[in-house]
Amino acid sequence: MNILITGGAGYIGSHTCVAAYAAGHTMTILDDLSNSSPESLNRIETISGKRPRLVVGDIGDRSVVRSLLDSETFDAVIHFAGFKAVGESVAKPWEYYQNNIAGTLVLLDEMRKHGLYNLVFSSSATVYGNPDPKNLPLREDAPLAAVSPYGQTKLWLEDIMRAMAAADPNWHILLLRYFNPVGAHESGLMGEDPNGIPNNLMPYITQVAIGRLKELTIFGNDYPTRDGTCIRDYIHVCDLAEGHIAALRRVAELPGCTPVNLGSGNGVSVAELVTSFEKALGRPLPHRYGPRRPGDAAACYADASRALELFGWKTKRNADDMCRDAWNWQSKNPQGYHTK
Ligand code: NAD
Ligand code: UDP
Repeated sequence: MNILITGGAGYIGSHTCVAAYAAGHTMTILDDLSNSSPESLNRIETISGKRPRLVVGDIGDRSVVRSLLDSETFDAVIHFAGFKAVGESVAKPWEYYQNNIAGTLVLLDEMRKHGLYNLVFSSSATVYGNPDPKNLPLREDAPLAAVSPYGQTKLWLEDIMRAMAAADPNWHILLLRYFNPVGAHESGLMGEDPNGIPNNLMPYITQVAIGRLKELTIFGNDYPTRDGTCIRDYIHVCDLAEGHIAALRRVAELPGCTPVNLGSGNGVSVAELVTSFEKALGRPLPHRYGPRRPGDAAACYADASRALELFGWKTKRNADDMCRDAWNWQSKNPQGYHTK
């Protein structure tokens, strides 16, 4: 297939490009590089022996999207482009609505004008809000709620896509709800490279390990979980990338708009992840326990059975693999890609 990958220079997008090459696809990336470095394309090329065409531009810039779709015929779009930081979205809601929602509306409009109806969309487990423990593991029909402007952009885009698909039977849309993507390509050439002090657990851990940060604070050890720390469903970014390729194989046969969880189905606690990481590191990771982080759910993990049923896909890599690869990336690239 020939695929348009928006946001393909970013963390999940770049790993998906490698998986797409391995599956024999061709691709063009549309990315404005607002949160990524073109260095990621050099790394894709080193790993795959091929380099995607990069169009530097904004998905919300109609002239860019139109001329790209005029100039090339695509079989499907994987739409990663968007802002993704929960905390930043609280401080800058307008920027999130503008970039994620207004931008996606332009992309969707140009897609339909060009007869391009196969779409794989990056949604998130954030659409489940703060889940009621009785709904765990989360199935795709669990109640939906948004707890931040970022979460609203994902939920509203899902609603928009559901309505568009209900009104026009041409659409084939897969709403992939990612749980907690972590880890890096096993080569250590590609990985997560956040701006500033990370908010997410794994990049915070790796930056403590490399000495850029002093110690990890574990937010809360009095949750009603097996060790008192929060439970999440971490998914290796290469499993996630392969999940997109599995979704692409089916998208043309699945009409309408279908939500699919991409998670492992296993809950791992913060303390368990730290223990796995210490195994990879070969020494203790400086950490202490602190108060709960406001708004955190005690536990959130997927029922991953629909992805297996529809795509024949499930995760292959465990928490030890995620920690080994995250540390391999961070230790080989102490400052990430450097060039952002
Ligand atoms: P990322 O920031 O590394 O990648 C996003 C890419 O999109 C970046 O390269 C950025 O430059 C680009 N971009 C942003 N706005 C753009 C615009 N208007 N036009 C063109 N390019 C634009 O993030 P990621 O972690 O790779 O996430 C990819 C997608 O997956 C996002 O939509 C994110 O919301 C979603 N997601 C991520 C996670 C996670 O934990 N990483 C979890 C659930 C969902
Ligand atoms: N967490 C933590 N210390 C940190 C960052 C995160 O203890 O410095 C915990 C957080 O409370 C949550 C888990 O790690 O229980 C995963 O947090 P992250 O922000 O990565 O993902 P999310 O909470 O959005 O699922």
